[in-house]
Amino acid sequence: MDKWLITLKRYGESSISQHSRQNNPLPRDHYQGFLVMKQLVALTYLIHRVVESIGDNVEEVKEGDVVIPVFLSDCQECVDCKSDKSNCCTQFPFTTAPGMPRDGTSRFRSLNGEVIYDFLCVSSFSEYTVVDISNLVKVSHEIPPDKACLLSCGISTGVGAAWKVAGVHKGSTVVIFGLGTIGLAVVEGAKIFGASKIIGVDLNPEKFEIGKKLGLTDFINPKDCVERPVNEVIKEMTNGGADYCFECIGLASLMNEAFSSSRPGWGKTIVLGVEMHGAPLSISALELLMGRSITGTLFGGIKAKSDIPVLAKRYLDKELHLDEFITHEVDFKDINKAFDLLIQGKSLRCIIWMEK
Ligand SMILES: [Zn+2]
Repeated sequence: MDKWLITLKRYGESSISQHSRQNNPLPRDHYQGFLVMKQLVALTYLIHRVVESIGDNVEEVKEGDVVIPVFLSDCQECVDCKSDKSNCCTQFPFTTAPGMPRDGTSRFRSLNGEVIYDFLCVSSFSEYTVVDISNLVKVSHEIPPDKACLLSCGISTGVGAAWKVAGVHKGSTVVIFGLGTIGLAVVEGAKIFGASKIIGVDLNPEKFEIGKKLGLTDFINPKDCVERPVNEVIKEMTNGGADYCFECIGLASLMNEAFSSSRPGWGKTIVLGVEMHGAPLSISALELLMGRSITGTLFGGIKAKSDIPVLAKRYLDKELHLDEFITHEVDFKDINKAFDLLIQGKSLRCIIWMEK
């Protein structure tokens, strides 16, 4: 067994997200059947597993521990991992390139002996997988596997953005552009940290009903804003501009709209969406001079090893809602149904059970 690696066996389940589908360079067909023309990649995203065996240098976990693999490394040794200002490890930087983080190699082989590369360091649509200790978080046995796996990406990202990046405070006003899973998780984070007005902006009015269960207080459908732009509607609703604005779609024009919706003086805009067309962001220098600020975040500023256990405890203490995000469940043999639901935009999170 390699010194820094851990073998995990099946136990819980995985889930897939639109984010991983949109932002991975592999074409869509590769996701449908796992087949890649040049390289085979074992997919996965949100995961919950049990430790089966450990490498010589691993002291952090032991056999039988319940763990969540995460895509963003947390080596706890580099300057970024030691700083409370960053969650982007520089010893093992985030990459979508396939392979293990330390050497780019793989631990998977097909029946024909072909190399199957790891995806985002945490491939686990498989009975067993091997993960670097830098991409693993130990969690309580008490949290159910179908809830625990949700903490390995999207929901932690949304809640973390409100908690760690924005620093949402009691009585504040918050606007979320885009109410997919990450946007709805921002709603939940804003509610937990005391925001008094939480406004969702989405083209789908059904998202208001889903969002209300998590703390959404107001809803704007841009289709209804025919006489004036959304930012003017928000300024009126928030008496001059929102304290915190979150862009959760990945459109430069929407990032601009969010920035313009924030309050002069202290309004803060947080970008979570990856610009889907690669367009540059251009903002008004005058609006910037008025005291607004804008920043982006990967994984919601979450430092995996220290922050995910906090979120897991909040779930067990009934402060954090996870159940509401699970809209579908399938057995592993029906995994392509999960991809279909994702592509059709019908699911928030679809749990894929390895075994029940
Ligand atoms: Zn690091």
